[in-house]
Amino acid sequence: MSESTAGFPQRDALWRELEQGGEPWDMIVVGGGIIGAGVLREAARRGLRVLLVEQRDFAWGTSSRSSKMVHGGLRYIASGDIKLTRDAVRERERLLREAPGLIDRMGYYFTLRRGQFPGRFLFNALLSLYDRMAGIRNHRYFDTPTLQRLFAGINKDRLKGALYYTDTVTDDARLVLRVLQESVGAGAYALNYVRVESLLQEEGQVRGAVLHNVESGARVEVLAKSVISATGAWADRLRNELNPEKRIRPLRGSHLVLPMSRLPVCDALAVFHPVDKRPVFIFPWEGTTVIGTTDLDHNEGMDEEPTISEEEVDYLLQLVHWQFPEHNISRDDVISTWSGVRPVIGSDKALDPSKERRDHAVWCDGGLVTVSGGKLTTFRLIALDAINAALGAVDMQTREPTSEAVFSEPKVTPGDLPVADVAWAKRLIGRYGDSALALFDTGGADEAQPIDGTQFCLAECRWAARHEAVLHLDDLLLRRTRLGCILAEGAADLLPALKTICAEELGWDESRWQAEVERYLELWQRHYSLPGQARAVERAAGTAQ
Ligand SMILES: Cc1cc2nc3c(=O)[nH]c(=O)nc-3n(C[C@H](O)[C@H](O)[C@H](O)COP(=O)(O)OP(=O)(O)OC[C@H]3O[C@@H](n4cnc5c(N)ncnc54)[C@H](O)[C@@H]3O)c2cc1C
Repeated sequence: MSESTAGFPQRDALWRELEQGGEPWDMIVVGGGIIGAGVLREAARRGLRVLLVEQRDFAWGTSSRSSKMVHGGLRYIASGDIKLTRDAVRERERLLREAPGLIDRMGYYFTLRRGQFPGRFLFNALLSLYDRMAGIRNHRYFDTPTLQRLFAGINKDRLKGALYYTDTVTDDARLVLRVLQESVGAGAYALNYVRVESLLQEEGQVRGAVLHNVESGARVEVLAKSVISATGAWADRLRNELNPEKRIRPLRGSHLVLPMSRLPVCDALAVFHPVDKRPVFIFPWEGTTVIGTTDLDHNEGMDEEPTISEEEVDYLLQLVHWQFPEHNISRDDVISTWSGVRPVIGSDKALDPSKERRDHAVWCDGGLVTVSGGKLTTFRLIALDAINAALGAVDMQTREPTSEAVFSEPKVTPGDLPVADVAWAKRLIGRYGDSALALFDTGGADEAQPIDGTQFCLAECRWAARHEAVLHLDDLLLRRTRLGCILAEGAADLLPALKTICAEELGWDESRWQAEVERYLELWQRHYSLPGQARAVERAAGTAQ
């Protein structure tokens, strides 16, 4: 098979080898979100010859659109789902240990107001249990004056203070990338923009898949001893080739992104929405303040990126107005938005979306293993369930795993990087592992400085373009980095610098660049800005020339 670089295998070479046929693969993994990446990691660890394919970009689905919290999920404990909470907090602590800088602890303040349920006593008891499950003791009570100092302008109406606890925050798309890179480093293969069009079957048994290279239009039949569909909210589609059952209830969640200067928050604030009493978070992320999320049936098609609706914008702004009445936050303050579709295993359409369980499920149908549901946080455990189901169905030689760690321990330390800021060095190692050092050799010194108002640098863009399977400008701005989500107007001001990088690293000429800018701005306008926001795109198009 083709040589892998510091990042992914050479795409064209790998595709040519697929066209030439050869021995069946041990396993094909369908879906390049966090669960597919987790399955790939476990399969590679066991010595399987395994290929992952993703119909769009890696992490294009729900795994780049979450609330970025690697968390135990307090609501599960409150609803008595002790096992889910225990698994999640333990996985959270494991990830914190394994990849600091990518997964970091964050403080959460749950506001307490008179007449609110649960009250301080019960909440405190839940948090004691929550902390005990994780083997930590971080929760405590903050009184109203302290809370008012920490969150200037917070609504004082019936405010009785807050209970503080800790969970963690991450960059979900980079988490997927890092898991994929670990898998590739362990001998696995991964291709983005390749869709499984249909399954190959022989006497009702799955024998492989028809792959469609979305970029070139080519198709190839690939044989495999087992196929795992980790297609999240799309899971019914492939599964329905063998079983007509519909099990996925796609539920949309959306977020608003504001400049930190308009609504400064040091940590996450968890509040009950004044209308439906759902918990919603106002939290710091990548130098911005994010508000989310909503939870409603997603009835739009699954081939388009999900988009925030007018009603969701109003709902989230209503929460901010109620919590921070003096800030006068309006639609004009919104930098960007994002929406994702939760792959929830539906129980009853009549049930309130927020009452649906968030557990995962694994189904086996004629040799196809389908895994869906669950959380970003518990991806390793979900992947293990899927792998075990696949290995139970097919006789395959596997290696006994010698370690449970998802991430190999980096040899590079923050002191090895040519940067003075230790926290930034740690962040880069969390995201790139040992490649964090090589990142600084890719371009000039000016590219190795954080871009104003962010913790990203242009060297990361150059690195991604060279090593991280970037095929389109949106891959670079929305998933390899999150610059398109956190800078005004989809990071339009950066387009001239990126033009040079893309020309040098990807060989894009003027017409390709223009086509990429058009594609990116159209996509950003439709799915990452407020509904009907055309103004920014017109200006950005001018900047890109
Ligand atoms: C708004 C929101 C907030 C959330 N917040 C959190 C949170 O804070 N913490 C947390 O732990 N969890 C959170 N979650 C849940 C978490 O994000 C998801 O459970 C998780 O990302 C799902 O991962 P996945 O790999 O199953 O699905 P996805 O990430 O959607 O991956 C599935 C992939 O399969 C691909 N695919 C589909 N069909 C094919 C095909 N035929 N061929 C090839 N590829 C195909 C899709 O393109 C997609 O990329 C949140 C979810 C939402 C929507």
